[in-house]
Amino acid sequence: MKILVMNCGSSSLKYQLIDMENENVLAKGLCERIGIEGSKIKHEGNGKFETEKPMHDHTEAIKMVIDALLDPNHGVIKSIDEVNAVGHRVVHGGEYFSNSVIITEEVKKAIEACNDLAPLHNPPNLMGIYACENLMPGKPQIAVFDTAFHQTMPEKAYLYAIPYELYEKYKIRRYGFHGTSHKYVSDRAAALLGKDKKDLKIVTCHLGNGASVCAVKNGESVDTSMGFTPLEGLIMGTRSGDIDPAVISFLMDKEELKVKDVENILNKKSGVLGLSGVSSDFRDIEGACSEGNKRAEAALQAYYYRVAKYVGEYAAAMNGVDAIVFTAGLGENSADTREAICSYLGYLGVNIDKEKNNCRGKEVNFAAEGSKVDVLVIPTNEELVIARDTKELLDK
Ligand code: ADP
Repeated sequence: MKILVMNCGSSSLKYQLIDMENENVLAKGLCERIGIEGSKIKHEGNGKFETEKPMHDHTEAIKMVIDALLDPNHGVIKSIDEVNAVGHRVVHGGEYFSNSVIITEEVKKAIEACNDLAPLHNPPNLMGIYACENLMPGKPQIAVFDTAFHQTMPEKAYLYAIPYELYEKYKIRRYGFHGTSHKYVSDRAAALLGKDKKDLKIVTCHLGNGASVCAVKNGESVDTSMGFTPLEGLIMGTRSGDIDPAVISFLMDKEELKVKDVENILNKKSGVLGLSGVSSDFRDIEGACSEGNKRAEAALQAYYYRVAKYVGEYAAAMNGVDAIVFTAGLGENSADTREAICSYLGYLGVNIDKEKNNCRGKEVNFAAEGSKVDVLVIPTNEELVIARDTKELLDK
């Protein structure tokens, strides 16, 4: 069985073709600048190529993807019939979806009903679904939601303390994101530790450009740091994370800004970029830091501190923690980040082996001998989760 995994953004689209017999990636690639001048596809299958060609919309982009998969030189399949189904990443499933689903007319309506909750993400996700329907009529399509894993959060974790009617009217509550990643790495952690996930309390730290922490108890998300939108929680590359909401009106007043302007500041100009003034990329900031840049140093320290506070919060929420997992760009690659965060966690019984921690992009348990808590690096694989869910739904 071969599954095509699609992750459609507003102007870009990532894809992977996965052979489910052995879970091997047969081909993968990226279409960039869809609907913008200079659109191109980067494809890796039987060798690599890059082609610049206008793609006015997602249908044209997905047509390019299909052509790439079928390409006589670089392709990996002879006919599109070899693809059994398409699995789509969908960012927001609201309160409608706590699991992946086969896409029907009703499902599309529910995804559309969540557009207001994720205006930048759900509309392009839907465009990808419609484009695949047009280009591959009758092919089963499956939606896998970033929010679904967190639908197990109890009310006390997801309610904001605003008038309850506003929750009822607009569904303003905490949803959480990166669910596919938190689920994958927490499941992997249980497997690597040789334990049943039903017996474990795990804190997973997804530290990429966007970042979130999740409390996973008995295999279920019971709390997570992102909320109504992916702006809440940790300090991120360009996002502020938690902030006193009164700052918004204060800024509007002092700087004569509109709501959209402040939103733009909090989403695109804040985080470690805003603090350091250097970059949103941690490699640049770590570099600036080693040259003595004080603001870069302050940005990193604030970042580590915030992650550590959340780990402590979730240890309290679960009444203990058995394992802490680091994943995504920074979590998988930066030993300094992992060490700095763990240095706050001695009171929980966390003790790391610095030599083992000195690793990148592979599964490692770097807890020191005798540490009360296991501490792991686990590279995330959201595409594989999407492909597995797709296969599971097809098999049913
Ligand atoms: P996205 O949220 O875009 O999927 P990633 O998970 O790919 O993000 O993470 C990207 C971030 O990971 C980069 O911005 C960079 O800051 C960080 N990163 C990647 N490799 C390293 C590294 N070797 N050292 C420090 N940071 C890294």
